[in-house]
Amino acid sequence: MTDPFGFLRTPRHPVPARPSPERVGDWNEVYAGQSLLPLVAGQARRCMDCGVPFCHGGCPLGNLIPEWNVYAAHEDWYSASERLHATNNFPEITGRICPAPCEDACVLALTGEPVTIKNVEQAIADEGWARGHIEARPPQRLTGRSVAVIGSGPAGLAAAQQLTRAGHSVTVFERADRIGGLLRYGIPAFKLEKRQLDRRIGQMREEGTRFCPGVDVGAELDVAAVRDEHDAIIVAVGATQPRELPALGRELTGIHQAMEYLEAANRTDEGDCTRPSVTAENRDVVIIGGGDTGADCLGTALRQGAASVVQVDINPMRSTCRSEGEPWPLVHPGIHRVSHAHEEARDRHGADPRRFGTTAVRFEADTAGHVRAVCLAEVEPGNRAPRPGTEQALPAQLVLLALGFLGPQHGTRLTAGLGLVPDDRGNFARTADFMARMAAPQEPTAESLPKGVFVAGDAGRGQSLVVWALAEGRSAAAAADSYLMGFSDLPTPITATDRPLI
Ligand code: FAD
Repeated sequence: MTDPFGFLRTPRHPVPARPSPERVGDWNEVYAGQSLLPLVAGQARRCMDCGVPFCHGGCPLGNLIPEWNVYAAHEDWYSASERLHATNNFPEITGRICPAPCEDACVLALTGEPVTIKNVEQAIADEGWARGHIEARPPQRLTGRSVAVIGSGPAGLAAAQQLTRAGHSVTVFERADRIGGLLRYGIPAFKLEKRQLDRRIGQMREEGTRFCPGVDVGAELDVAAVRDEHDAIIVAVGATQPRELPALGRELTGIHQAMEYLEAANRTDEGDCTRPSVTAENRDVVIIGGGDTGADCLGTALRQGAASVVQVDINPMRSTCRSEGEPWPLVHPGIHRVSHAHEEARDRHGADPRRFGTTAVRFEADTAGHVRAVCLAEVEPGNRAPRPGTEQALPAQLVLLALGFLGPQHGTRLTAGLGLVPDDRGNFARTADFMARMAAPQEPTAESLPKGVFVAGDAGRGQSLVVWALAEGRSAAAAADSYLMGFSDLPTPITATDRPLI
């Protein structure tokens, strides 16, 4: 502990975002253009280095938070970066976009305000890059074994980096034209500038990981060939099946799944086109879904110059503090949160854009078959049924569905080729050590046994967070390494059956 009275003397002070009128005028990160250092060392001194550091348990990576807080407090950025990278492959990414379950589990959060762990993490990682402390770490020797990683989101990337560094020859196959999964085409640049991702991919290339973008395994590349050419396979294809809204008029033009919209915006930011194929410019926009994906649509619509934006949340507005049913240190309690996008909407349009306890019951068309209005209704708190007499039509020329994801795609050549089967929640079934549970054949043969196929990330866990995807990738890499070598020194931060404390 750097200062036993630090948390008493220094109040919590998160790094401020840029003023909202400035940040909605560009696509740079909301914190862009400022050094976190002057603030962060003082904030790290608030850490009490607790005997039982509950923050470790709040983070699925088991980040060694009190240890790097001490180094940050002493401005020893080299040691801080070493400790941070001991448990996390891409801390500059989680430092920017993680909802920080570690802060919910911080002991200071029991009676007051937690340490700004997320800011400290980002500052250490950024400083590590700026000072040249973060370098490629190619393996000292090769094992002669090869691994295919299918999917290049955070789970696939973390698994690939761990396995490459362990000496295996790793190839990452990605069906999109660029590497990164949702880090690339889902999460908007104002939360994560893509140069952060590109820099890590550069580091991984230097270490020896091979990347094959534009290859849909099962469609463009035969699954049998992938199995023949590799000793193990990590399936990290994400949970890409969006939930639908079976409301009257859903087929009208102008109604899109959130990912169609966010991908188009991210592609424009990447320079693929000058104008996105779906845009909110000058439109009245209604976003259906009150979660983080909806908030990302909101921030994007504001930057595109939407005429108005409303976000519809079927849940009632939550309390601003933990309920009795979610006592500390249970992480990420379901409290009312105001994201940067909500703040921006309030500043631009004068009110919180959210309608709580509300759902969309139907869509109305103009004469050309384009959506022109959304009919909303309040819902009964218990069964979420629309309450009669509460209907209200809102003008909307763009409607975005941000209702979550149902799991990975089933019934594809990939699933058939690897024998992947759904579990009871619709994700790919697997054992606690990430080994795929394959379809039981009528008459099992040696070839049909689940050999060397591991499932990591949202594909096995369901829609989750980047920090869980990284932990999954690291653990699946350890399981694959152990399968290939008979033992493994790689860390296993979680098992496939671990769940957040919530
Ligand atoms: P993904 O990132 O989904 O990557 C899977 C990849 O596999 C994709 O690139 C896909 O193209 C590829 N693929 C699929 N099938 C094949 C195939 N047959 N062959 C080759 N490639 C294939 N989490 C946070 O912690 N913070 C956030 O701020 C945050 N924001 C989010 C915003 C949005 C809009 C969304 C949708 C999610 C967000 N999340 C956030 C959640 C987080 O992005 C995911 O939990 C995480 O990306 C899952 O990682 P993954 O590697 O399992 O899958």
